[in-house]
Amino acid sequence: MALNLIMLGPPGAGKGTQAEQFAASRGIPKISTGDMLRQAVHDGTSIGLRAKATIARGELVEDDVMIGIVRDRLAQADARAGFVLDGFPRTVAQAGALDEMMVLRDSLIIVEIVVEEAELVRRLSTRLVCDECGATAHGFGVGVERRTACRNCGGGLVQRSDDDDKVVRERLRIYQRQTKPLVEYYQGRPTFRSVDGLQAPDRVAADLAAAIASAGEGVAP
Ligand code: ADP
Ligand code: ADP
Ligand code: ZN
Repeated sequence: MALNLIMLGPPGAGKGTQAEQFAASRGIPKISTGDMLRQAVHDGTSIGLRAKATIARGELVEDDVMIGIVRDRLAQADARAGFVLDGFPRTVAQAGALDEMMVLRDSLIIVEIVVEEAELVRRLSTRLVCDECGATAHGFGVGVERRTACRNCGGGLVQRSDDDDKVVRERLRIYQRQTKPLVEYYQGRPTFRSVDGLQAPDRVAADLAAAIASAGEGVAP
């Protein structure tokens, strides 16, 4: 049976961190719409050109664009055995479209990572990413030096331009308004779980694995 997982949670909750580790441990793809959009901006594709200003303002890219990107990605062969979605869905319209994509596939498992706002602001203000490949530099904590190199490719580490304080505040507002309603959308399902994201990454990973295992028991074969 395929493991079709969604990571839900506000910016900075640790979705990318956990999605990457979990996907690698199960040999299924991590599908991050934020990473895909940043790649498109970097490559100068038509979607990238259209999305660039929206991302810079901290607003959401149009639903139809995002739904198209995810539909195409989930149709690829490597997603047949399962996937971890990070950053999608972000609106009720996206969640409805994803449910339609799942009609002939195994049920979604939805895990919400819960972290309070003050900690989100702190994490995002200290997050560093690779300037070359976009990977997040983990495990450094506050005060990581900018000249520390990327563990994947040796590239330089920089702050994401939308992790700027003002844009972060806007992203958190938009999360409350447009994405938080997804908790209500999903929480009645037998495959919905919440984990405490305020713990150390390894503890979060352990809770996440347990939550997914217990949610999987609720999925009809
Ligand atoms: P998201 O994908 O939800 O926006 P990230 O996975 O990029 O979040 O994490 C945001 C920042 O917080 C990164 O700098 C990351 O290294 C750090 N981080 C992730 N998980 C934890 C944790 N459990 N405790 C402390 N910091 C964390
Ligand atoms: P984070 O998890 O740190 O908030 P992401 O990397 O997931 O950030 O997303 C970065 C930006 O890309 C978002 O602020 C938004 O502009 C855009 N984006 C990513 N995923 C979506 C989506 N599913 N719908 C609309 N916009 C998206
Ligand atoms: Zn890199």
